[in-house]
Amino acid sequence: MDRPGRKAPPLAYVITEPCINTKNAACVEVCPVDVIHPRPDEPEWETATMLYVDPVSCVDCGACEDACPVSAVFADDDVPEQWQHFIQVNADWYSNR
Ligand code: SF4
Repeated sequence: MDRPGRKAPPLAYVITEPCINTKNAACVEVCPVDVIHPRPDEPEWETATMLYVDPVSCVDCGACEDACPVSAVFADDDVPEQWQHFIQVNADWYSNR
């Protein structure tokens, strides 16, 4: 789908609403390139309300989507309409660090 303002490929996975106050770290454990943060051993874990995928470094493997127990993770092309803003939310967490 062509969307105005959409970032160029490569695709990335996106963590969305069901992760808020869930923060199950199964995705962190399966990510082969360590691009989901904060991890439970990082200082931001205590204050973060959810986890975030770094869209620049994600290699689009899909392991996190399969691992998530609350179905919070989607390929960016498949993010449900009501959660589209999480594409930017994930990216912002990394650009604001
Ligand atoms: S799609 Fe793969 S590389 Fe990207 S965040 Fe998920 S597990 Fe990590």
